[in-house]
Amino acid sequence: MRLGQMKLAGDIVEAFNEEEILVAEAGTGVGKSLAYLIPAIRWMKKNRRDGMSIVVSSYTKTLQEQLFFKDIPFIQEFIDKDFTVVMLKGRHNYICLTKWHYMLKNLDQNINLFDRIHLLPLLVWLRETKTGDIEENSGFQIKRVPHVWARLCSETGYCTTKKCAEYHGCYLGKIRKLAYHADVIIVNHSLLLSDAASDNAILPEHPICIIDEAHNLIKSAYQYLGIEINPWRIERALHKLYTPGRLKLGALVSLSRFVGKEKKWNKDHNDMIIKRLSQAEDDVADMLKSSTAFFKAFLKYVNGEVRKTEQRYIQKVRYKPDTSPFADIPECEELMTISAKLERSLSLLLKEIKSLDPKEKASISQQTDDLDIAVRVFGEMQSDMRTCFYPDAEDMIYWYELPTDSESIYLIIKASPLHVNEQLYNKIFDNKSAVIATSATLTISERFKYFMKRSGLDMIDGDRVKTEIYESPFNYEEQCEIWNVTHLGQPGNKAFDENVAQLVGELSARHHLGTLVLTTSYASIRNMKNILESVSQQNNFQLITQMGSASRTALLQRFIQQTSSVLLGTESFWEGVDIPGEPLEVLVMSKLPFAVPTEPIVQAITEDIEKNGGNAFMEYSIPEAILKFKQGFGRLIRSKEDRGIALIMDNRLSFKRYGQYFQKSIPATMRFVKNSEELQQNIHKWVKTHKTSTKTKVQRQK
Ligand code: SF4
Repeated sequence: MRLGQMKLAGDIVEAFNEEEILVAEAGTGVGKSLAYLIPAIRWMKKNRRDGMSIVVSSYTKTLQEQLFFKDIPFIQEFIDKDFTVVMLKGRHNYICLTKWHYMLKNLDQNINLFDRIHLLPLLVWLRETKTGDIEENSGFQIKRVPHVWARLCSETGYCTTKKCAEYHGCYLGKIRKLAYHADVIIVNHSLLLSDAASDNAILPEHPICIIDEAHNLIKSAYQYLGIEINPWRIERALHKLYTPGRLKLGALVSLSRFVGKEKKWNKDHNDMIIKRLSQAEDDVADMLKSSTAFFKAFLKYVNGEVRKTEQRYIQKVRYKPDTSPFADIPECEELMTISAKLERSLSLLLKEIKSLDPKEKASISQQTDDLDIAVRVFGEMQSDMRTCFYPDAEDMIYWYELPTDSESIYLIIKASPLHVNEQLYNKIFDNKSAVIATSATLTISERFKYFMKRSGLDMIDGDRVKTEIYESPFNYEEQCEIWNVTHLGQPGNKAFDENVAQLVGELSARHHLGTLVLTTSYASIRNMKNILESVSQQNNFQLITQMGSASRTALLQRFIQQTSSVLLGTESFWEGVDIPGEPLEVLVMSKLPFAVPTEPIVQAITEDIEKNGGNAFMEYSIPEAILKFKQGFGRLIRSKEDRGIALIMDNRLSFKRYGQYFQKSIPATMRFVKNSEELQQNIHKWVKTHKTSTKTKVQRQK
């Protein structure tokens, strides 16, 4: 074990024993995964009990899988075999066999001809999969057909446990049973937060929680502690009650098939329930029509008032209590009126069922259980509709998202709490005996204050909290050169992107070094691609861009295989990318990664800080950008043998006052270059000094 790793492991053991909160910034290469997994396993072996586990949560599925498929087998082989670990994901990751068989039996009602093609990869995969986790299935393009997956994945309230025909083969059920007996459960932040939001209805008791990639917990909280309304959520909730059409399905239909079948039923009861059922079914059918009418009207509104002429990516539009678009859409009010009518019908029906005598009730107990679940799902959805359509809270963020297709009614309406720190404190930190929050990027100027405040950890009694930085074992001064290139002009416009592309092209043509270019938008990638395409063809290097439908993993594989290639990536490439050795020798950060100010959550937080007399730029924009900048920089050096060059093309580093904070945030000295010739010479020198040793390393690895 390395020194920093041993110190971290020791502090984690102490936190477990003393019931503390440890906030640990562990630099790249410390080996934090083993430093927390080994103490976690040992603690569980001493305190083992069914239904209790230690939960390890990561942000990316990559880390979740690395822990499960790499670190755990390592521990099992070299340290200890006597423990159990389960990797559990959010229920939407698992296919629901009941829905799948229903889909196959009712293709005509459920899926159009075009979308049916997307079922083929699922058909093949289902013969082999042992987990039902859609992540395994690279053939199914979930991002292209989310509405198809929404009809097939497991979802809250859908399971009818003992009555589900597929229950014993259910993938989610199996994995949850395993989790109940596991010592350690590896989850992602989305599942951890969903569990917290549902008052711990998903995960077994976990007095200790280890949160890796903790800097992303806050971002995840905005997503998973919030709510969402979209056409398919409304449709699913209503279909659970009643699916009109030839087949007629749903809890109301199955109840109507059983009512009065027992001879001893009182005729009046029978007639009244049939009447209530029929009314509720009519209301569901009306609400389905009304929902479609509303989303069509909303689409017309956004296409007329909001949509940008050329929209290549999802457009997010924030609204506030006084700027809500829904007040101007009569179909919204109609939808809510019909929804209230259905609510009344259901309540009358349930009241009628309640008044049945015990024998009558017993004869329909299974059906009423199903109805209860369907009514609960409907109630939750209706409450979320009210929140989104009648925005009235100052401490909520409201927005809607427009798909790129201007004909699509799949508009999404969302709401999130403004202050997630309070919820994180209440739901994640305060009720645990020990929490380890760790990441390579938690501090700004070596201070934890920003993270502590935003995450709610500052609300915990100070005596229980320990913060510590565990230095990376890498010698960054020796292993990398960092240059701020200052002559490319003001960032944030097309000309700047083209200048960056021009320079990257010249460097790649001359030095043939594997280069990852981190941009801050797809527009920048497009601008750079136009320039780099011809340069790459003329100079025989591969250009890979994050533009098409290829996944990040697929792009990275190509980048690693095609040495000396140039990869243009945005958002998702700033972190979680781990490419040791020659494939990545030059890291380019085209622009300081400030968040998009019009993004609804960013806008709301900024406004809130300003409203309370603060300086949002200094208190929020800069710290957020620094954390991301540190993450981006962290892509370059991944092992003690790595050597590399970081080029930061944004000249604001050199002349803005805040530039110094960015400079100080990285673990090596930054130098400045004022023209291309100087940069070419520097890189030429670097290649002469380092290429031999790097190549030797790569050959050794091979
Ligand atoms: S138990 Fe739930 S998730 Fe599993 S197959 Fe049945 S309905 Fe689907």
